[in-house]
Amino acid sequence: MTTLFARIIRREIPADIVYEDDEVIAFRDINPQAPLHVLFIPKTPVATLNDLTESDALGVGKLVLAATRYAKAQGVAEKGYRLVINCNEDGGQSVYHLHLHLLAGRAMHWPPG
Ligand code: 5GP
Repeated sequence: MTTLFARIIRREIPADIVYEDDEVIAFRDINPQAPLHVLFIPKTPVATLNDLTESDALGVGKLVLAATRYAKAQGVAEKGYRLVINCNEDGGQSVYHLHLHLLAGRAMHWPPG
């Protein structure tokens, strides 16, 4: 299934891309929930967290590292930020291409909504 995010990777849909390497691409969320809201996605699509296997372990680690490095480069790491991966309906997932939300620039609430 071709998702919206696959089309962003292929540059068929415009996005504000802020980071890219061989395996990861990151772009600003179109509906930001914090002053800084960036989505980090693997270029090789995986639909949900439930679909991850052992062979994805390194890729998931690289996704997290890309986000934490970006947070440091943006100067928000010390104050803090939140990384979120929503899974399926109850998790609030709306695009079925695994993605890591980086949210920063304001105090986050707990419990999350
Ligand atoms: P999910 O709800 O699946 O965890 O997150 C999907 C995210 O993708 C949402 O935060 C939503 O605002 C964002 N999004 C949906 N469509 C687009 C789009 O066309 N471009 C960008 N940049 N973000 C999008």
